Amino acid sequence: MLTIANRLKSALDSIQDFAQNAKRHPSEIRLLAVSKTKPNDAIKEAWKAGQRMFGENYVQEGIQKVQSLSELSDIEWHFIGPLQSNKTKQVAEHFDWVQSIEREKIAERLSQQRPEAKAPLQVCIQVNISDEENKSGVAPNAVFALAETIHALPNLTLRGLMAIPANTESKAEQKQAFQAMHDLYKRLQATYPQVDTLSIGMSGDMQSAIECGSTMVRVGTAIFGPREANSARQ
Ligand SMILES: *Cc1c(COP(=O)(O)O)cnc(C)c1O
Repeated sequence: MLTIANRLKSALDSIQDFAQNAKRHPSEIRLLAVSKTKPNDAIKEAWKAGQRMFGENYVQEGIQKVQSLSELSDIEWHFIGPLQSNKTKQVAEHFDWVQSIEREKIAERLSQQRPEAKAPLQVCIQVNISDEENKSGVAPNAVFALAETIHALPNLTLRGLMAIPANTESKAEQKQAFQAMHDLYKRLQATYPQVDTLSIGMSGDMQSAIECGSTMVRVGTAIFGPREANSARQ
């Protein structure tokens, strides 16, 4: 039976292979292990195997994990799900990163509510790159206005962009969306030199994302197996 440690290793091996095929250095691509719906023990197992960055989508579930796994040193928690304004305080207090910023009001609240004693919250703007209805993220042409707001906020550091393109098996379509993200990312970086994160690629489209310049892949299923159906989602 494949353990989480085995699957983590094979995800890292894939990143290495895809990077080398794309003539990139594997160290340019970080792996975020997406642990939503998975129990604390699964996260501990990945941590013991060397993984340090974990992503969560649901506020309540995420906070519970952050608190109960606080003994795991060097762990870094990324919030990657939809965020409503009545939940920003909890996220500002417990997470290290928020990758799903799509509104000025949310950014402002996160900055206000970030505890003084903590480092600035590291943030990415989520982009609705495939222009899907009912999909999270800002339109590409709204990225720069939001970036300007974030840049002016004292307790946030703008690190880059995140996207979940329309689901497709077609490599050509995957790469079209990822290439558009890479172009936006390069333009953002030209204005804000601290920008170093292009968060694209998941279990099913990691190769295309790495070929198009991803610096962070967010991988759930390939590490932890299929999602649990009935976890608390709030
Ligand atoms: C669930 C999720 C992932 C991981 O998806 P997999 O296909 O399981 O790898 C990545 N990013 C976001 C924003 C997610 O919600």
